[in-house]
Amino acid sequence: LPEPAVEALQPADVRGLLPRPASDAHKYTRGVVGVRAGSAHYPGAARLAVAGASCGLAGMVRFVGDAADGVRADHPEVVGEGRVQAWVVGPGGGDAAGEALAAALADGVALVVDADALAHVDAPFGVPAVLTPHAGELAAMTGADRADVEARPLHHARAAADHYGAVVLLKGRHTLVADPAGPVRATTTGVPWLATAGAGDVLAGVIGALLASGLSPYDAASAGSWLHGAAATLASGGGPLTAGDVARALPETVRRVLDPG
Ligand code: AMP
Ligand code: MG
Repeated sequence: LPEPAVEALQPADVRGLLPRPASDAHKYTRGVVGVRAGSAHYPGAARLAVAGASCGLAGMVRFVGDAADGVRADHPEVVGEGRVQAWVVGPGGGDAAGEALAAALADGVALVVDADALAHVDAPFGVPAVLTPHAGELAAMTGADRADVEARPLHHARAAADHYGAVVLLKGRHTLVADPAGPVRATTTGVPWLATAGAGDVLAGVIGALLASGLSPYDAASAGSWLHGAAATLASGGGPLTAGDVARALPETVRRVLDPG
């Protein structure tokens, strides 16, 4: 079968998608994003997902999980459980990821489902969602062969989006965003230095912030992935980076997109 058509998102597209606070905005109208992530073994994944969600594109970040002390040490502005417009579920979730997904689903709001929570996703998925697997995670979800996912990423991303009725963001050297109702978008930003632990956790957080701000799953996934790659390029400057560096580069990346100079 031929691979489906693909579109590359341009900086001007991202500029058009980014939320801008209205003059009468308050933190709740800008959107509240919640993160349910981390476990005793992986507290850092929760902190990195919160770091991504704290990019400034939503009005408030909530956190539910074991790593609350670490999260608040990193980001004193993060608050506890309450109403949200979008949940990010799964980074570092370990054995508790299924329960975290069920709790998030019970709210009926939009979700970003990543990492350990992906193993608990049923088709069709009942709420607006972005699923963010890498090739190995997508293979485990669908029963496909990992090498075939890597060889035919467009086909597998498209097929998974149709199967789950959700946006599927397939991570890798080239990140693809497949929507059940639209063409596959490819992210053109990023650097190979981004192949580093925790990078995906930051991405899940950014997409959650954009979802909470009111973007559709398709637009949140594509703009979030574009910003994440651009932040990595900025943080890298041609050299190595950590996932935390990517999160810290996000506000400056957003600034440059909004005002290209
Ligand atoms: P994860 O697999 O969840 O840790 O996420 C890894 C992140 O790094 C994703 O955003 C990938 O798109 C990105 N990434 C992985 N490998 C590469 C690569 N070779 N070049 C560019 N980005 C990559
Ligand atoms: Mg990951």
